[in-house]
Amino acid sequence: MPYNQRMSGDCIEGIGAGTRLCAVLGCPVRHSASPAMHNAAFAELGLDWRYLAAEVAPADLRAAILGAKAMRFIGLNLTVPHKTSALEMLDVVEENARLLGAVNTVVFETPGPDGQWVPLGGLPENPVAEIRSHGHNTDAASFVRSLKEEFQWPDLRGATILLLGAGGAARAAALRLAEEGVGSLFIVNRTMEKAARLMAEIAVRFPSVIPAFMPESADLIINATSLGLKPDDPLPISLDWLKFSRPKRAYDMIYRPAETAFLRAAKAAGCQTANGLGMLLYQGAAALELWSLRPAPIEIMRAALRKNIYA
Ligand code: NDP
Repeated sequence: MPYNQRMSGDCIEGIGAGTRLCAVLGCPVRHSASPAMHNAAFAELGLDWRYLAAEVAPADLRAAILGAKAMRFIGLNLTVPHKTSALEMLDVVEENARLLGAVNTVVFETPGPDGQWVPLGGLPENPVAEIRSHGHNTDAASFVRSLKEEFQWPDLRGATILLLGAGGAARAAALRLAEEGVGSLFIVNRTMEKAARLMAEIAVRFPSVIPAFMPESADLIINATSLGLKPDDPLPISLDWLKFSRPKRAYDMIYRPAETAFLRAAKAAGCQTANGLGMLLYQGAAALELWSLRPAPIEIMRAALRKNIYA
């Protein structure tokens, strides 16, 4: 009876009336590794909290956020396709999330003793007071944190970067890289107009960054397209470019599979390579710290992710 064993062993043991909840809302969401990562962290921190995954259709997102607020959830994560539409559904949104045009973390807050808003997760129990939803974006900073860690590359200033893709993740990465002071940022996308729009936005906001379409070589190439999620996907960049331009580093935001065809080809061309697991980890760690006001147990969360995704 493996199902019953799981029910009595891993999943519901210890849940009581005082258990507090977080969730990721997405559509689809069944593939999400976030519950494994966060529940391992809650256990490590001794928190009587549980993290769930809820499949929410776009038309139901507003009701789902209001429902979580009414039930005094600690917080939410938002994933595809909710990150942009949620912007208009929250009580307050951080400036950087507005700039990026996407929210991936919601903190439910209440007025503290001095009138300042505090996260519900920072209080010993849920108050019967006014609650507000506060939107953040932890994706962009976590991408750069992962990049710096994986390549032991603390200072990105002046770097030449080729970014493949111009969707939500690419946009967040591009704006954050520009903020880091990279020298040249080249954006390539299947739909050229989207790349052109993003480059125009960067030119206005970060005039010191030189935007262009295709460099002869690069310090870093990033795959921020969804090419590589499926085993028979084509490479997101030509093999010839990789072989002849030999960028120093290649980062794939995809983490499942651990090594995409793009990373294999980049490695064969002599690049240092890294996948997007660190990006997933650090956005989760940042969310947990916003909810709990405590340092996230990074290595516990990393191990839980690896076990969930690769074991
Ligand atoms: P979006 O749907 O917003 O963007 C998808 C991007 O992929 C677009 O640039 C799109 O081009 C391009 N693309 C899709 N299909 C093709 C194709 N057949 N040929 C060429 N280009 C294609 O998705 P996201 O930005 O949210 O995600 C992008 C990738 O990043 C995904 O693989 C996702 O798994 C990964 N990701 C990883 C995270 C992590 O924590 N590691 C977090 C978020 C995302 P076009 O504009 O022409 O449609």
